[in-house]
Amino acid sequence: FQINMDEIEIIGELGKGNYGSVQQVFHRPSQIYMAMKEIRLELDESKLNGIIMELDILHRAVAPEIVEFYGGFTIESCVYYCMEYMDAGSLDKLTGGGVPAKDVTEDTEDAEIRVPEPVLRRITAAIVRGLGFLKDELQIMHRDVKPTNVLINKKGEIKLCDFGVSGQLEKSLAKTNIGCQSYMAPERIKGESQNQLSTYTVSSDVWSVGLSIIELAKGCYPYPPETFANVFAQLQAIVYGPAPTLPKGYSADAHDFVANLLKDPNARPTYAELLKHPFLLADKDAEVDMVEWVAQSLERRAARGVKTLSPVEA
Ligand code: ADP
Repeated sequence: FQINMDEIEIIGELGKGNYGSVQQVFHRPSQIYMAMKEIRLELDESKLNGIIMELDILHRAVAPEIVEFYGGFTIESCVYYCMEYMDAGSLDKLTGGGVPAKDVTEDTEDAEIRVPEPVLRRITAAIVRGLGFLKDELQIMHRDVKPTNVLINKKGEIKLCDFGVSGQLEKSLAKTNIGCQSYMAPERIKGESQNQLSTYTVSSDVWSVGLSIIELAKGCYPYPPETFANVFAQLQAIVYGPAPTLPKGYSADAHDFVANLLKDPNARPTYAELLKHPFLLADKDAEVDMVEWVAQSLERRAARGVKTLSPVEA
């Protein structure tokens, strides 16, 4: 179905990103609660329409690990797109991301695992399957893998959003990229600094998966907090520094799995290979109570005082 603004009731803001805000909305004709992303772009009408056409391929991105796309439209210089509302939000907020590293003492960093291994494994498996689907079925890479782009719901489902389907949108956003925590692979950073936008491949997404998993496990962005305020220092650390590692307390398989993701681009495994790694194979028959873990994490999140809209249950 086609969606337009007249059919939409805005319920409240779910979050703000680098490029715009995300609102929870109610779509009257379908009676579906949705998340609607607004991206403000200074582009002419034909380019905006081009983006809406390119977004259409999202209708084919139907998989258990991909956030469902309902439709997009433009108003003035804004692109809006409506997607499945995920009622536990993004992984960063759920697992303590947003807590600056300085508030996590060295002690807890090593002694306390933020996410139990079976849960980390299940989340990782979903991310890897989702990315594998995008690559194999739609021939696209994600280009923006990071914890804010992994969404979860109270059913315990883990799904990816915000992947690069629109070349025009990518181009317009790249200019305004002001993220202070980079999940970009070293080779991509090097390429961009030399203005070679296409020097990276799907293995760059694999790096970003590695960094995201470590962030999840530690509860904070893996590079030192000194680098938050200084983009240059952070990019230097990513390109020339040692790759981050999982905190102590996880299995040898988990450590090996993550280390593989952060190798040199040519040595990084493919998604198919990753799914055969012992760390992820162990997920197959594992009983993991994701529903309970999400419920507990939401309680902890509320206790930390992370402001949450308490939206109408979808
Ligand atoms: P970023 O630009 O950092 O990726 P986004 O603009 O994509 O951020 O999203 C901002 C925030 O909105 C996210 O961190 C997430 O908490 C929330 N959000 C985004 N999409 C959804 C969704 N489909 N369901 C629920 N919450 C969402």
